[in-house]
Amino acid sequence: MTLTYLDHAATTPVRTSAFEAMLPFFREQFANPSGSHRFAREARRAIDESRDAVAGTLDVEPGEVVFTGCGTESDNTAIVGARGLAVCPAAEHHAVLHPVEELGGRVVATDATGHVDLDRLADALGDDVAVVSVMAVNNEVGTITDLAAVSRLVRERAPRAVLHTDAVQAPSWLDLRQITPLVDLLSLSAHKFGGPKGVGVLTIRDGVRIAPLVRGGGQERERRSGTHNVAGIVALAVALAETDAERPAENVRLASLRDRLVDGLAATVDGVVETVPRDRKVAGSAHVCLEGIESESMLYLLDEAGICASAASACASGAMEPSHVLSAMGVDRRLAAGALRLTLGHTTTERDVDHAVDVVADAVMQLRSHRFARPS
Ligand code: PLP
Repeated sequence: MTLTYLDHAATTPVRTSAFEAMLPFFREQFANPSGSHRFAREARRAIDESRDAVAGTLDVEPGEVVFTGCGTESDNTAIVGARGLAVCPAAEHHAVLHPVEELGGRVVATDATGHVDLDRLADALGDDVAVVSVMAVNNEVGTITDLAAVSRLVRERAPRAVLHTDAVQAPSWLDLRQITPLVDLLSLSAHKFGGPKGVGVLTIRDGVRIAPLVRGGGQERERRSGTHNVAGIVALAVALAETDAERPAENVRLASLRDRLVDGLAATVDGVVETVPRDRKVAGSAHVCLEGIESESMLYLLDEAGICASAASACASGAMEPSHVLSAMGVDRRLAAGALRLTLGHTTTERDVDHAVDVVADAVMQLRSHRFARPS
């Protein structure tokens, strides 16, 4: 069976260029970059070059780039390391939401598109706030945040706060150079743009003080200890550069495939509700709610047909609880129970989306006829 992979928001296939860039660091260039011999210096040089490349793509100084163990760690470091009152919207990824809640921070309502409600955000800001965290792109429904508006509000109402953005879902769709001037801290994760799992970035604007979460040998200028994942860091830089170069063309190609997918579903299946208007979200995101369908049964039938999709975020999809994002958006519980997230990426083809339309249509027919056939 050929797999049809439509779950790029969960993770992306590793780009060939990134995979090949990693190989020498598992073989002949295996040294620990913190050492003092020549092999260590070679590994250190590879990290320095990767840092320069990442800084170039983000339009920040190399010294502002901190390599971390994943997007979750970058998010946690930003929230916990600010050491004070944290504020975030209710539709954030749990990597932000959970530390904010655990530290007794303020969680702000979103509107019906999943965008933070700017009036509620304004109410939550003040001199007592240490960090505000607002994601660039929502991982579940694809909504793009107006970070310029958020940044203006935070600078005006919470002048002592640092502004963090979880940009983990952004690199394939948005030019990060336009985001970094608006924020003090920004999180990335390599596996969301064709790099390997287990390596991330946190940018920390020069002069901003963030206490380290991981302490030890003092790597990353005391901001993140732990022996560097050299292969992962090198691959992250390669994947980010390639993603950045392909982005303008991919945005056009994948918006057209996404439209073909959602329009195809709407034309063949009754009761398809698009969760967020297309002009408010990224090109690769197709999120719909299917009336009268349970996501769990839909995902089972899609899996049987070789289609990889998801209902909520990857972390939550093992347990089919109503998604906290759809709840925050005020989506009716019964409708939210039929959520289907299909996310496109650099490997997606026209054949993939056409096949998905056929399989989803068949599955809906099967599930609805089963429901009506059941004795009451
Ligand atoms: N933030 C967002 C928006 C995400 O989508 C994810 C991954 O699902 C994360 C953070 C966590 O990143 P990682 O998987 O690298 O820990």
